[in-house]
Amino acid sequence: MPSELVIVYHRQPYEEVVENGKTVFKENKSPNGIVPTLKGFFGRVEKGAWVAWKYADDTSDPGFERVIEIEDSFGSYSVSRLPLTEAQVKSFYHVTSKEAFWPILHSFKEKYNYDPVDWPTFREVNWAFAEAAAAEAGENAVVWVHDYNLWLVPGYLRRLRPDLRISFFHHTPFPSADMFNVLPWRREIIGSLLACDVVGFHIPRYAANFIGAAESLFDVETGPRKPVNPDFIMEHVALTERRVARELTYDGRRVQITASPVGVDVDYITDKAESPDTIARARAIRHELGETTMVLSVGRTDYTKGGTDQLLSFERVLDDNPELRGKLRLMHVSVSANRNMTVYEGIQNEIEQTVGRINGLYGTFDWTPVTLISRAIPFDDLVAYYRAADIAWITPLADGMNLVAKEFVATRSDESGVLILSEFAGAAVEMGSAILANPFSHKSMDRALLQALDMEPEEARARMQRMRATIRKYDIRAWAEDQMASFDGLQPED
Ligand code: UDP
Repeated sequence: MPSELVIVYHRQPYEEVVENGKTVFKENKSPNGIVPTLKGFFGRVEKGAWVAWKYADDTSDPGFERVIEIEDSFGSYSVSRLPLTEAQVKSFYHVTSKEAFWPILHSFKEKYNYDPVDWPTFREVNWAFAEAAAAEAGENAVVWVHDYNLWLVPGYLRRLRPDLRISFFHHTPFPSADMFNVLPWRREIIGSLLACDVVGFHIPRYAANFIGAAESLFDVETGPRKPVNPDFIMEHVALTERRVARELTYDGRRVQITASPVGVDVDYITDKAESPDTIARARAIRHELGETTMVLSVGRTDYTKGGTDQLLSFERVLDDNPELRGKLRLMHVSVSANRNMTVYEGIQNEIEQTVGRINGLYGTFDWTPVTLISRAIPFDDLVAYYRAADIAWITPLADGMNLVAKEFVATRSDESGVLILSEFAGAAVEMGSAILANPFSHKSMDRALLQALDMEPEEARARMQRMRATIRKYDIRAWAEDQMASFDGLQPED
């Protein structure tokens, strides 16, 4: 049966494990994260399909069924598994996407690595995704493509199936034209995105940047710039944009440009945060800390997350304020990246060395200033840390959204706790009540931490209440409704 909604996302929508010699598909238990959110859309249609890749030694004889039917708590849907070799995955994902696109998307020109890119392989893999999506989609179906590693899919799909309604969502930032146009494949990428009916971003700035890049490369007609939702206009946030166009016309076709920030599942996180188990765990963490103030930082080990810059700020604050020594502890969770990616080795070493130096310089027998955790913490445990922390210190140099900041706020139903947030995280355009920090300024970083340490409980509460109201208003359901509304507005072309 053809599908009304086809989701194209590089990862499979379940965990595939072998039990007693048999392959079984395990549903992710936690509804937290983008995969369960996307699967939730299947509950809204009669028939849905998901397209992802799966390793195969020989793509013409992969040794597994290409299309399977899944039934889980989200309903029944098809999953089309595109067989890719290890070499193809390394090339399209680990090299082209992560070494060439990722740095440009986050405006790190100096990290951009052109040499190892194999563009024909990137095209070939994207073409295969487009063919797989076309095979699943019914007449006039909506095909929803996710993220930059599938940038060429919309253009190919439009050629294969002119009837389809195509939407593309970026989960990352989108840079200005000066930055984006560093990519030599810029015309091909933007040309493909202009074949969409909807191109979606988290925040208005990224949408405006995309429009700027499209205008620099093609003769597009840009619709009127309309005022941005006042909820997303924050004074003192570098990413705030005040007016943005909502559509482009190119080649006789209208392309809707949307900005809608992905939120978190506030109800689920609140329930978890208030469970007796979490409260007991948070209490145990606090007990271990004694009277010290707990500062929590959580992110992946990626140069965009600014881990080293944050540690250097912590070192300066300890150096300049001897009275704070012994009084606060930083728990720095920096989840190591896939070791396949050479670009992340240097940063991991840098973080380990900086933590070692700070602990060596200031630590005592009974006080360790920084605890570094390099492995992923299961979400249930993370919620206990969020709940136990006095301060969440989230200061990426560039970040499409940053869900950690929203999760921290969602756990604080006690309305205490202080969030320090980089003004270069997409989430900052919603959460101007955080203490905002500019991670490119030592003064701003150090001052933000000192301000958080000094904050009176009443002020902290008032700020937390405002942030909690925002993340509830723009939670994951609000995002889902926005996405559905953008699809519903699309009339099938006949
Ligand atoms: N996360 C986790 N365990 C960890 C660190 C992070 O489960 O040790 C989760 C976190 O709860 C969040 C996600 O990973 O849902 C990170 O999302 P975010 O948007 O903050 O950053 P990204 O990694 O997508 O850039």
